Amino acid sequence: MDLQAIADDIVRDLSPRLGEGKVADYIPELAKVDPKQLGIAITTVDGKTYRAGDAETAFSVQSISKVFMLTLALGKVGETIWRRVGREPSGSAFNSIVQLEHEHGIPRNPFINAGAIVVTDIVLAGHRPREAIGEFLRFMHYVANDDSLYIDEPVARSEQRTGYRNFALANFMRGFDNLEHPVDHVLGVYFHQCALAMNCVQLSHAGLFLANRGTNPLTGFSVVSPRRARRINAIMLTCGHYDGSGDFAFRVGLPGKSGVGGGILAVAPGRASIAVWSPGLDETGNSLLGSIALEMLAARTGWSVFGT
Ligand code: GLU
Repeated sequence: MDLQAIADDIVRDLSPRLGEGKVADYIPELAKVDPKQLGIAITTVDGKTYRAGDAETAFSVQSISKVFMLTLALGKVGETIWRRVGREPSGSAFNSIVQLEHEHGIPRNPFINAGAIVVTDIVLAGHRPREAIGEFLRFMHYVANDDSLYIDEPVARSEQRTGYRNFALANFMRGFDNLEHPVDHVLGVYFHQCALAMNCVQLSHAGLFLANRGTNPLTGFSVVSPRRARRINAIMLTCGHYDGSGDFAFRVGLPGKSGVGGGILAVAPGRASIAVWSPGLDETGNSLLGSIALEMLAARTGWSVFGT
């Protein structure tokens, strides 16, 4: 299978549609990104990377960071994490508060904002916010095997200024005793993890351990056990695209996590880690062309967790 030709063809086939969708505009730093961009990078478990389009342009990973924070938190507290956050799809928007009241401050899953804020609270234990941000960034350097990754401070700062919904979610959960640290500390870390800048090639490297039984084949580093990698993939499949998760599973058939910056990390277990990026979003807040690119990739490679 010629993965380079598949990547090139996808970018070429989608080029007439560049600019479709709506760029996230809740902060000016994201609103000013040129929507006419599309990148794709595929890194196979034998360590080869195939790239096409804007695969080396850095973007704001936003909610894709939640996968890596979950991995870090599982490493700290293991399966006890599930006392504080569920693992059911929410069927609601990423920043929804409605279910929290019925469920006594226990968020549905670690990939909606409320759940991710709890996960960040767990990673913060025993640290000052600045140290937790440092730990996250070092972890990203380690999994991506790339020390050049950085956090985009202006993005983090403007999230901090405008994150009213996230403050509401965090205060609500603190009211239910499901946050241990002051809300501004937890959100300070959360906004910084979301502001991590990466390109598709780097992101496909960072996700590779999830495609390879928990070990990064580029470095030989064992990040998590095979069972934990399977479970993180399961949560990505069921909860990785907010209320578009069912549709993504139906169309693409691979675990994936999207972010409002327009990136998506997808995992083809035993085969490859794939990162796509295109800033225009669909009505569920997921990259419009990025999802279509992955749908094309799955169709053209036959990769799916549901059969061949
Ligand atoms: N920083 C964003 C927020 O919390 C992330 C949302 C996303 O990527 O879905 O609103």
